[in-house]
Formats: sequence, C-alpha cells, structure tokens
Amino acid sequence: MYRGRIAPTPTGLLHLGHARTFAQAAAFARAANGKLVLRIEDLDAARCKPHFTTSAIEDLIWLGIHWQEGPGCGGPHAPYIQSQRVTWFNEVWKMLQASGTIYPCDKSRQDVERALVAPHAEDDAEPIFPTTLRPDNHAGKEATSPGNSNWRFRVPDSENIYFDDSIQGPQSFTAGKDFGDFLIWRKDGMPSYEMAVVADDHAMDITHVVRGADLLKSTARQILLYRALNWTIPQWSHVPLINDANGQRLSKRAAGLSIQELRNKGLTPAEVLTAPVVSLIGK
Ligand code: GLU
Repeated sequence: MYRGRIAPTPTGLLHLGHARTFAQAAAFARAANGKLVLRIEDLDAARCKPHFTTSAIEDLIWLGIHWQEGPGCGGPHAPYIQSQRVTWFNEVWKMLQASGTIYPCDKSRQDVERALVAPHAEDDAEPIFPTTLRPDNHAGKEATSPGNSNWRFRVPDSENIYFDDSIQGPQSFTAGKDFGDFLIWRKDGMPSYEMAVVADDHAMDITHVVRGADLLKSTARQILLYRALNWTIPQWSHVPLINDANGQRLSKRAAGLSIQELRNKGLTPAEVLTAPVVSLIGK
C-alpha cells in the first residue's frame, strides 16, 4: 500500500514551491490509490510558530490537497506534530546507540542550531566535519541516554551511497566527501532534522517520499540512518525546484509568492498549481 507524506516546517507561509511539491506528493498518492499523511515538522521551537501551522493547513485545503492522516483527521500514528514525538525520538537514539554508529560531540552553536531544519539548497554548505576531530570508536559507548551532548553519526568514509530517484534518476554521493559526520541529536534534547525525518517516515510506514530536489544530499545521509537502524528505505522522488525569471530559487523569503498572497490576488488553486511561474510573479 502506497503511503506518502507532506511535511511542512511552520517557520513561514507556504510558497509556490511548497504548493507544487505537495500537490505532486498528493497526485502520486492518489494515482497509486494510496494514503497521504500530513506531518508538521516543528522541532525548531525558536522559529516555528503555531499560526504558520494553521495557515499551512488552510492553504493546503484551499489548494485542494487532501490528506487522510494527520492534523484534522487523526490516525493510528498520532501525534503528527514532531514536537510532541520526543519520546519516540529518544527510543530511536537508543537504537542508533546500540548500532554503534554515533558518538557525542561538542561543536559550534551555529552548527547545532542549523541541525533542526532541513538543509535546503541555499544553506547546505555545511563544512565537512573533519575526521581528525572524530573521537575513537569507544566514545560514548557506555551512555544510556543522549544526556547534555550533541551526537553525530560516523559516516563510512569514501563509501558511495547510491539511490534511484523516480524523478531525478540514479544518484550517488560519497560519504566523507559530499558530507561528513552529521548531527543526529542536539544537547538540548532534540533530534536533528535528518534523524527526526527518518524516525517518523519509518514510524508512519511511509513508502514514498516526495520532496524538493534540494534535499537530494540529505537523502544520502538518511539512507545511512536507515541502514544503521535496519529499516526499509522508501522510494524517493525529488521534485525540481522552481526558479523565478532570473533563475533565482523561490523560497519562503521571496516576496510575493506566498500562497496567501496569490490567493488574495484572486488566483484560483488551478492557476497557482499549474500556471507558468513567470506569469505568477508579475501578478
Ligand atoms: N520539513 C522539511 C522541510 O521543510 C521536510 C523535508 C522532507 O520532506 O523530508 O523541508
């Protein structure tokens, strides 16, 4: 049974890029006679605001995107709000700890702050964590809880991580070169984006992940987590990003293309989802 999901982060208004990616996720689920789950990824307490969750839900409804599990409809995997799922994330930390792939690490505050949100293209310039700073294999082995430390995943140096993306085709990233040991846990008791998304896609039995192409490299990191946890990897579909007339990527920060604004300008859901982007920018 196909189970897809849409997973907005309520740090701002949904924009055109979100709308089209989510519509694609909904269309794939519908075509496969499957289910769509709505999950709110609000781990970044400082930047996520409840009113952005409310407006995201309103926008999704207005766009005609329907989900069968999640806020507003409940379901067997509740809660669907990540900030309410920390008990589960602690369990997954224990599983990773048992797999021997993680270690405690103290690193700059900025690095750690960034770990809570998905690394979208413009900010995935994360420096590769130097292997010289990696502790020996025994570090943290006796820990039974994450405590007050950040924790990193030890990547298999030089190994190529392959996956076949249903939209982008075959992909390959090299551990230690394209990305290094990445944060899975923050010392304030929250999992990183990479860990939380894997924990929840697994817990919610997600079979198909449809999201923006800026998360391709994250997928390679996530595959390593699936492997360490011995979990089945979903099928990946990364939707091309939308650019404006100057080739600039649209993002939440780009003025004028929030769904609310497009709605207020009198556009219909069909126009928002299908009209050429250049024609929407000018409106
Ligand atoms: N909440 C994440 C985001 O805003 C979702 C990423 C994903 O779909 O895995 O980008």
